[in-house]
Amino acid sequence: MEKKRIVTGDRPTGKLHIGHYFGSLINRVKMQDEYDEYILIADVQALTDNFNNPEKVRNNVKELVKDYLACGIDPKKVTIYIQSMIPETAELTIYYSNLVTISRLSRNPTVKTEIAQKKDLFGESVTYGFLGYPVNQAADITVLNGDIVPAGEDQEPLIEQCREIVRKFNSIYGEVLKEPEIYLSKNKRIKGLDGNEKMGKSLGNAIYLSDSEEEILKKVMSAVTDPKRIKKDDLGNPDVCMVSYYHKLFNSEDNYNNVCKECREGLRGCVECKKELAKKIIEYLKPIREKREYLEAHPEIIDKVLIEGTKKARAEAKKTMAKVKKAMKLDYYED
Ligand code: SF4
Repeated sequence: MEKKRIVTGDRPTGKLHIGHYFGSLINRVKMQDEYDEYILIADVQALTDNFNNPEKVRNNVKELVKDYLACGIDPKKVTIYIQSMIPETAELTIYYSNLVTISRLSRNPTVKTEIAQKKDLFGESVTYGFLGYPVNQAADITVLNGDIVPAGEDQEPLIEQCREIVRKFNSIYGEVLKEPEIYLSKNKRIKGLDGNEKMGKSLGNAIYLSDSEEEILKKVMSAVTDPKRIKKDDLGNPDVCMVSYYHKLFNSEDNYNNVCKECREGLRGCVECKKELAKKIIEYLKPIREKREYLEAHPEIIDKVLIEGTKKARAEAKKTMAKVKKAMKLDYYED
């Protein structure tokens, strides 16, 4: 039986951290045997709010691939490709732009939230490119005939917008495009070391998959703990402590329960508790970090993955575009 196709991806704006690892990378590794997985490195989309910093976008493309492979994504099973090297996506975006109104895009809750968060960049007036990125994203998914798009709840309106575009296209030009399904991720978002609901580069509260042992230790030592606890024998509350939160992620259930018990009974010092956690995180990430270091030393592996993945994705995109253009009566002559 033919495998269902997943289309997913990341914007190359920074290295990946443990929030990405638990939020999406683990799932991608799990799903790579069962599904035909395509991972898009969304450099065009990254430029919509980094248009003034192209070096940042370019420099992070290969960093993402190193993170993927280091975490166990197998390029023999998964196609990893660069968005800007699939010009068919840009072409399809133009055709889709006739099927979406400005007011519908402006009402998209995900876009609305993001525009509000980017006031510093856009001021009072958002760019055409940023407002329209859901249209570009719809083209990314459908040009590859994606069946499934894994996403968090906050991304749901983007997938719904894509489905609407597909329905409208098919109703006008005929049944050409596949309407993708969302695969709602059950993985919860990982909080930052400072207790912020989100872990992120700009927030300075993340542990990266590429962090050295020293960096991990330093970051863990700065994590937010129970503020009411001053001395070791003060009775603590692990429920408000980020160190206990990460113990739950990286430690065994028994050890985690013991951390909480000792904290509540005033039998555990915060410094020791943090050191113990740092050791666990370092151990957990060691194989990832070592594989990443190997890939750093072998850039030809990354190039090969990207060249071959992009070639395969482009061949798929060309097939879809041939059908799209025929349906739209744009198939004038053979190329
Ligand atoms: Fe947090 Fe551990 Fe300190 Fe309790 S003992 S407040 S769990 S760091």
